[in-house]
Amino acid sequence: MSKNFTAELMSPCGIYCGTCIAFFGYTMAGKKRKMSCIGCRSRISKCAFLKKGCSKLASKQVEYCFECESFPCERLKAIDVGYLRKYGMSLVENLKHIQSKGINSFLKTEQEKRKCPTCGGVICVHTNKCYGCNEP
Ligand SMILES: [Zn+2]
Repeated sequence: MSKNFTAELMSPCGIYCGTCIAFFGYTMAGKKRKMSCIGCRSRISKCAFLKKGCSKLASKQVEYCFECESFPCERLKAIDVGYLRKYGMSLVENLKHIQSKGINSFLKTEQEKRKCPTCGGVICVHTNKCYGCNEP
């Protein structure tokens, strides 16, 4: 059974790291990684998407992108468009949910949405696959 979704695994830009393909131990291309990613907030290396170009995220001035006066910035919007098209998920909408209803409400909704009907595990947002039971 899966553990409850937790705020520690919520990325600043609106992806729940526990549903990310890197967290399950694979690359975007589907190859096995040497190590699974432990989540954007826990990793020492920088966020692949935003931190490199965002001083506020890099210096931890904001916990979530919606706290920024430029939200949603051009960079986030560009990622958002790609995510919506490829994975059917909007990071901006996720962040707005957290902003208006709080992180716990979002985590609960996301957990229900990503729950594998076969084994109760977590379905990956990038591949739509459950790595617990390998159901596509
Ligand atoms: Zn499953």
